[in-house]
Amino acid sequence: MEISVRHVRKEFDRYPALHDVSLDIRSGELIALLGPSGSGKTTLLRLIAGLEFPTEGQIFFGADDASDKSVQERNVGFVFQHYALFRHMTVADNIGFGLSVRPKGTRPAKGEIRRRALELLDLIQLPGLENRFPRQLSGGQRQRVALARALAIEPRVLLLDEPFGALDAKVRKDLRRWLRELHDKTGHTTIFVTHDQEEALELADRVVVMSQGRIEQVGIADDIYDRPATPFVFSFIGESSTLPVTVTNGQVLFDGSALGLDASEPDGPARLFVRPHDLEIVGTGEGAISGEVVVVRRAGPVRLVEIEAGRARTRLEIEVAADDDSHLTGTIHVRPKRWKLFPGAG
Ligand code: ATP
Repeated sequence: MEISVRHVRKEFDRYPALHDVSLDIRSGELIALLGPSGSGKTTLLRLIAGLEFPTEGQIFFGADDASDKSVQERNVGFVFQHYALFRHMTVADNIGFGLSVRPKGTRPAKGEIRRRALELLDLIQLPGLENRFPRQLSGGQRQRVALARALAIEPRVLLLDEPFGALDAKVRKDLRRWLRELHDKTGHTTIFVTHDQEEALELADRVVVMSQGRIEQVGIADDIYDRPATPFVFSFIGESSTLPVTVTNGQVLFDGSALGLDASEPDGPARLFVRPHDLEIVGTGEGAISGEVVVVRRAGPVRLVEIEAGRARTRLEIEVAADDDSHLTGTIHVRPKRWKLFPGAG
């Protein structure tokens, strides 16, 4: 195992930012830490980096307990959202900076540092820009230079905190693809923080979903999307609706009537989660959920129909084809094709 976070708790002035977090990362993996604002992503990244230290628990790098080690001893490379390039230095000097400040004896010769900077400029696909200053680069180019600078020290691990956060959508997309290719070429163990689920699911080998200082689920994109482990993951990833239901003798009841869905959950209140494309519009048939259409909106290539169902007027969203204009008003009936039940009233 390359990095092993073991039962880490982190408090800031007794406020717990992380509770009992454990995570194993393999050598060469590209990992996304995904979660809403304040969920503890940056704190976890900074603990792995050695910029913060755990209140409890340990962090191993390989077989070594690195919990008390400094950033330098851990040999990590960083990139932050606001590319902090040195404004008065050229691109080549920026990239070579980490090598040029090494103590005498371990510091490569000037020519060697330059050679390495030029090599990295090729790798980040910006050859020929070595003598420019940061102000002469676009945002996306600066961010690539920041990555080259982090790679120059040949880090054991690369840590990226919202590396593309400040850029516009199109540039973000391009850089995302580019980062994946770069990672596949260099094989660095890489951990990046994002609150953008599309970025996490598209780019990472495995995604770590966090909420309120805890890890909710760790998995590949398919697991996270198709097999969400907790109600939080289900509602945080993709679109979904939640129906308050009751489980009675293996049957799911909504508003007192059975939906014809089998449940293995214990009797009692539960929440039924369903995605808009997993709700099928049907005739009045038995067990269907009926509701009044309240809003219809276009979402890219499809149309989303929102209904209010049951006495509590629970909102459900149904995906239909964009050219299907037969369900835009009145009462409709739907049946979940795929769903997931979580026990408890929530
Ligand atoms: P964002 O996406 O907004 O950056 P995040 O998931 O990265 O959020 P963290 O920055 O890790 O979240 O913060 C987790 C919690 O810890 C927050 O409630 C934050 O206010 C708190 N916190 C983080 N750093 C400190 C600090 N230095 N002192 C006190 N509280 C802190």
